[in-house]
Amino acid sequence: MATIFSKIISGDIPCYKICEDELFFAFLDINPVAKGHTLIVPKKEVDYIFDLDDSLLSKMMIFAKRVGKAIEKTIPCNRVGISVIGLEVPHAHMHLMPIQKLHDMSFEKERLNFTADEYEDIAKSISTNFA
Ligand code: 5GP
Repeated sequence: MATIFSKIISGDIPCYKICEDELFFAFLDINPVAKGHTLIVPKKEVDYIFDLDDSLLSKMMIFAKRVGKAIEKTIPCNRVGISVIGLEVPHAHMHLMPIQKLHDMSFEKERLNFTADEYEDIAKSISTNFA
């Protein structure tokens, strides 16, 4: 059965899309830890990130770098943090989050909430800065 992320990539489930290329897809996390919290997902459906072949994993990091640079340009921050958890959705993904301090990317703090218009604006702004 297709994962929820495959359904997002195919357009069967809506998302606040940032960008894609032939191998990867980037969109906002629906329960963001930080404003601009973005997920990077390979179109190939593989559960565990360390089961991706070396070539795809390397390319995924380079794609994440491009998205991270776009996030940096969009949302004032010290850094864009990157983490991999994968306990909820069995489809490899990286979390990118603009942060000022360590606690900003704690998965244990209360998730943020934005209106649909706000999510749209955030996604569009990051997308515009994607190069
Ligand atoms: P993990 O698998 O890394 O533990 O967490 C999965 C992440 O995916 C969570 O931060 C969760 O909020 C996000 N997520 C789960 N389902 C959806 C969804 O349907 N749409 C979006 N945009 N994000 C989701």
